[in-house]
Amino acid sequence: MRLRNIPGAREEMLVNPLIVQDPARLRGRWHEEFGNNRPIHIEIGAGKGQFILTLAQRNPDINYIAIEKYASVLLRILTRQEELLLPNLRLIRVNAETVCDIFAEGEVDRIYLNFSDPWPKDRHAKRRLTSDRFLSLYRVILAPEGHLEFKTDNVSLFDYSLAEAEANGWKLSQVCRDLHNSSYASENVTTEYEDRFSAEGNPIFRLVAAPPQEKTGSETL
Ligand code: SAH
Repeated sequence: MRLRNIPGAREEMLVNPLIVQDPARLRGRWHEEFGNNRPIHIEIGAGKGQFILTLAQRNPDINYIAIEKYASVLLRILTRQEELLLPNLRLIRVNAETVCDIFAEGEVDRIYLNFSDPWPKDRHAKRRLTSDRFLSLYRVILAPEGHLEFKTDNVSLFDYSLAEAEANGWKLSQVCRDLHNSSYASENVTTEYEDRFSAEGNPIFRLVAAPPQEKTGSETL
C-alpha cells in the first residue's frame, strides 16, 4: 500500500498501548494474552483494516491479530481500534518474515492474505507473500486443522500462488476466479482494495489452502 509517510506514525507505534510491543515475547502465549482459548486468526498485510475490524466485530469468539509492516498504514487500524476497543483484536507492526518468531508451532488457526503486493518481476518472486519461502513459515505456525485464505484481483499472482501451494503439498479448496459472482459471495467480507478493484470491474480471485500434514524432520526436532 503506497501511503505517504505520516509524521509521528512510527513513534506512535512505540508508545501506544493498543500496539503489542515486542510481540515475540508472546510467542506460545497468545491465548494467555487474549485471556481465553479461542481460535487465533491473523491477517498479514492488514492495510487500513476494514476486513479484520469487520470480522473482529462480527465474531467475538475468534481472536484476531492484524499484522502490518508500515506504521503509517497500521495507524488507520489503530485509530479505529481506539474508538472500538475490541477485546478480541491485537495489532502488531512487523514484517511477515518474522512470523515464526512471533507464533509458536501450530499456534495460529487461520491466516488471511488479502491483496498482497504482486511483485510482478520474476527476480522479486521470493518477496511474494505466497512464495514457497513464506508458505514454509506459515506451515510451521498453522495448527494441523488450520488453513490459509488468499484473495487477490491479480491473475498472475493468483496463478503463481496456486502453483506454489500445489508444488509445496498444500491442499487447495474453494478455488474461485470470480468470488463476487460465486456461492461464496454472501459470506464474503471485503477489504479496501477489493472494493476498489471490483468497482473497476475486476473479478476477485480466492483460494483456501490447508498445509501439508506430515511435518518435515527439521520441524519436528
Ligand atoms: N489487505 C489490505 C491491504 C492490501 S495492500 C486490503 O486488501 O485492502 C498489501 C498490504 O500488505 C500493505 O498494507 C503492505 O504494507 C502490507 N505488506 C506488504 N508486505 C508485507 C510484509 N512483508 N509484512 C507485513 N505486511 C506487509
